[in-house]
Formats: sequence, C-alpha cells, structure tokens
Amino acid sequence: MNFNFSVPSKVIFEKGSSATVPEVINDLQLNNVLFVYDKGIIDAGIADKVIEPVEKAGINVTHFTGVYPNPTIENVEEGYEIAASSDVDAIITIGGGSSMDCAKAINILLTNPGSIKDYEGRGIVKEKTKPLIAIPTTAGTGSEGTAFTIITDTERQRKMIIAGDNVAADIALVDPELTVGLPPAITAATGMDALTHAIEAFVSKNASIPSNIHALKAIELIVENLEEAVKNGSNIEARENMMLGSLLAGIAFNQAGLGLVHAIAHPLGSHFGVAHGVANAIGLPYVVKYNSDLQSVKEKHVEMASAMGFETEYKSLEIISEEIVSTIVKLSNAVDIPSLKEIGINKENLDEMAVDVTKENSMKFTPRDASLEEVKELLNDIYYETPLIEKV
Ligand SMILES: [Zn+2]
Repeated sequence: MNFNFSVPSKVIFEKGSSATVPEVINDLQLNNVLFVYDKGIIDAGIADKVIEPVEKAGINVTHFTGVYPNPTIENVEEGYEIAASSDVDAIITIGGGSSMDCAKAINILLTNPGSIKDYEGRGIVKEKTKPLIAIPTTAGTGSEGTAFTIITDTERQRKMIIAGDNVAADIALVDPELTVGLPPAITAATGMDALTHAIEAFVSKNASIPSNIHALKAIELIVENLEEAVKNGSNIEARENMMLGSLLAGIAFNQAGLGLVHAIAHPLGSHFGVAHGVANAIGLPYVVKYNSDLQSVKEKHVEMASAMGFETEYKSLEIISEEIVSTIVKLSNAVDIPSLKEIGINKENLDEMAVDVTKENSMKFTPRDASLEEVKELLNDIYYETPLIEKV
C-alpha cells in the first residue's frame, strides 16, 4: 500500500483552549492580526470572548466580519483588501467551514499574486503563507485539519477546490466549549457533513491504513454522539466527541479525498444554496447504497458496521450494507434533516445540475464510477425519496 499522509496543522484540542489565543500570538511573535468571522459568531458572543483578551494584551487587531455562507471570490477579495491595507502579519479565523475557508483564501492572496481563481487545483499556491490560526465553532467541516479551501465562483456556479501545503492553518485551536450554544439545526447539518467526510474517506479509492484509522474512529464518535449533541446541546461530552469526530474525519479526507456525495453536495450548494451539511445528509444513504453494489465496498462495510456499533456476525454482506444505510437514514431523521422537496428545489434544475456533478474533483476518489445517466437516476431517487431498503 502506498500513501502520502500528513496532518497539515498543529492541533491543540482542549476545552477552553480558545482563551489561549494571546499566548499563541505571543509565541509566534505577532503584533498585527486580522480576525475573520461572521455575524453569527458576534451574536453567539464568541467573537468578544476570543478577541477581547487579544486586544487587552495590546495586540493590533483588524476585523473582517463579512464572511458569507459558501464564501465567494468577491467575498475573499473583500477580506483581502482589508488584510492588505492593514498590513497584517497573521490571520485568525473563528467560525465554521465558511469562515475558515474564506480566511485560508485571503491568506493565500496576501503572499501570492493575482486572483484566487488562479489557484484552483492542487499544489499551485507556491509562496509560503502567513501564520493562520483556525478556531472552529462547529463540529463538521474539519477545515481546521485540512489543506483545502473551497471557494464559490458565482459566475461559473462552481465550487473551486484549492489544495496544497500552503493552504492549511498552521495552528488549530479546537475548543469543544465553543460549540455548546450551536443551534440544533446547525449541529445536525454540520455533524452529518462530518459523518459524510468519514464515510467517503473510508471507501475512497485513495484510502490508506492511516486515513482508515481516523475515518473509522470518526464514524464511531459521530454515530454515537450526534443525536445527543443535537437534542441536548449543553452535553459537553457529546460536544467534545463530535468535535473530535469532525477533526479526525477532516484528517482522514485530507489524504483519502471524498466521493460522490460531495460531488452532488457541491453543485446543490452552488446552484441552489443548499447548506453543505444538509446536501450531504440527503445524498449520503443513496450513495452508500449505490456504492454497495461493489463487492470491495460491501467488504469495507463490515468494519464500518462495527464502528457504527452493530453486530456483524452471521450476517450476509448485503444485510450489513442495508443496516448501514438504515442507520444513516435513522440518524438523519432523528436530527431532522429536511428533504430536497421541503427545501424547495425544482426537479428540472436537478437534471441540468447532474452534468456538474460528473465534473467534480471528488469523482476521482469515489469507489463506484457513475455515468451522467447514473447520476441523473440517483438525483431522481434522492428527490423523490425512493425507499432505500426493500420491505420484506
Ligand atoms: Zn463536506
């Protein structure tokens, strides 16, 4: 087995670690930092909690609070202008995937010329970036532990992936206490995103032993804790386990890549603005079933089933795969993930979108190839909520 595995960021995982930002800044000898976050972080009281001690420590602080969900090229440029005009020496981002991705892209532009569009792909960001500290406030994206950023090109209705060593955060301060106030719907969507990362990494064509170890542990933690974290948000143990699950899933897919669920979720986000985690949650059971036609995937499902906590002894591979599908559906229902119809997507638009799905980068890693016709059929099944398991 050949692989190229690394954890691109230094990870400090500890309850209360977000209060140590002034010390981290001091250690790195920084004195002029840009904080990248959004209104939700201000409203949740997290921004003040993290930034005030930094200001009190006498460090120059500039703010970019205009991050949109699914950040766009324009959004990145707006943040870059603020960063460049303030001549900052580092970026600190507080938030979910959108804030972290936006901050990564702004940081690229601070030391690399041109437009962020020029860096779509892997390994194109040549110049070393300035120090980037990521403080995640959701347990989902895993962006704090990946060397990717995803930026939406609204003109092409496309999510660009920019990947490489110079993209990752240098330090991830992972503080589960920051997720305690997260509303149930966001906890649910981001948690299902993390589960999708872990499952897609595990069955990926590019999976390796180290990525599998991280993916399986992530699956175990997320299946065991997501419903509790959604229904009882102040349960810090559930929040801590979700944060760990999300981080491990990020580390797994950073190496192994993703698959067809994300290939469907990205255009659903860029065409219709469907929240990333919701799009993944809706597609996940259908793609797991689609992939399970392959013997190699069925065999992998045995280990995945154990991670999900159910017995596999004396069961056929077919039954095990079906139980995995129904575990995912039950979890999605338990945490109230809406359907595409409820979101208000028009069926005709989905057929057009199928072409974009086939062009997505993560199609390279998905275990079972899918033609345009197969993708259309899958989208049809997802839209009409075709039952996944035949009733006996
Ligand atoms: Zn994702």
